[in-house]
Amino acid sequence: MKKRKWVYLQNPKKYEISCDLCGGNNIEWSEYEGMIWCYDCEKDTRGNGGVFDGPIPINAAGFFGLTFDRYYFKENEVRRYEIRGNKIKYVPLCCPIKP
Ligand SMILES: [Zn+2]
Repeated sequence: MKKRKWVYLQNPKKYEISCDLCGGNNIEWSEYEGMIWCYDCEKDTRGNGGVFDGPIPINAAGFFGLTFDRYYFKENEVRRYEIRGNKIKYVPLCCPIKP
């Protein structure tokens, strides 16, 4: 398993992810890519994909209070998810792109 370089700021249950082992949502992002950590099972597991299972209604996501902002460990930096045209960009909060 590869270690994550970044993690979403919001808890996985915000994205309707739950533990695929026990079905619970006492979970947090795992330190490994593509995984969650379940406090009840005390295991790293894939979880069920929640909103990531389907085509993400990315424009609607903000409407539901979802963000896809990420925290990058090495850079110690939050990057904000932005849609520019039909491209997705992760913009460091320190340096917003000028329109
Ligand atoms: Zn579990």
